[in-house]
Amino acid sequence: MTENLEGKVALVTGASSGIGAATAVALAGAGAAVVVGARRVDRLREVAERITGAGGRVLAVELDVTDEASGEASVARAVAEFGGVDVLVNNAGVMLLGPVEGADTTDWTRMVSTNLLGAMFLTRAALPHLVARKGAVVQVSSTAGRLARAGGAVYAATKFGLNAFSEALRLEVSGRGVRVVVVEPGVVETELREHITDAGAKEAIERAANAIRQLTAEDVARAVLYAVAQPEHVAVNEILVRPVDQAW
Ligand code: NDP
Repeated sequence: MTENLEGKVALVTGASSGIGAATAVALAGAGAAVVVGARRVDRLREVAERITGAGGRVLAVELDVTDEASGEASVARAVAEFGGVDVLVNNAGVMLLGPVEGADTTDWTRMVSTNLLGAMFLTRAALPHLVARKGAVVQVSSTAGRLARAGGAVYAATKFGLNAFSEALRLEVSGRGVRVVVVEPGVVETELREHITDAGAKEAIERAANAIRQLTAEDVARAVLYAVAQPEHVAVNEILVRPVDQAW
């Protein structure tokens, strides 16, 4: 299948690195006009340059998904610049692993407000446009949205929560032609682990990840592209994609 997103508009959160950047490049490569959002505008500019360099259409917007007004403004910029939103990719996230006992609760607040509340705010802001254009919302969840592990209680809670939110949303909007897609990657080689503040948790996940062949961000981007490029009547609701070496 050759994916064709000509005439479609996609908004990708957390597009300054990793899966979000690769997804923005992939969607633009298939012909979508892409709005890339994140807090680090210098990094966003590099992604935008890659897209325009390949002949794509892109708009970079400074976005903090934890701030509801910032999310609303990004959707409004997408509509003003490109005329609507067909695909929202809620990808922005942080994974601040560590045990519950003695945890730094600012890590918890960051994870809940970014991974869960941020995706919820953006979904709400974009939904009228997705309904109007029979679009799709892609939630970048995780294997941690299916399996909780020691040291990942709050990260898993955000991803289980995102999956629950998405299933209820699917029931609310599928009758109006909106596709809800949950993508659940296993270990992907990105910057995500670098931000872990608990030294023990960071060392443990790095050791486990480096012992296997990890997914690349582009591997996950292909899964997103596959889901959103389907005909209007096809809803790919869930994609679980692990490295073949990942047993957990
Ligand atoms: P990266 O750290 O490379 O990317 C995370 C992105 O989220 C960055 O672009 C960052 O941009 C953005 N972000 C973080 N906080 C905010 C915020 N408040 N507002 C806007 N953007 C924000 O990691 P990944 O690409 O790996 O992560 C992307 C998603 O994939 C996450 O949801 C993660 O949970 C999920 N995932 C990752 C896996 C992995 O193994 N890597 C496995 C399964 C799921 P900036 O800092 O510029 O704002």
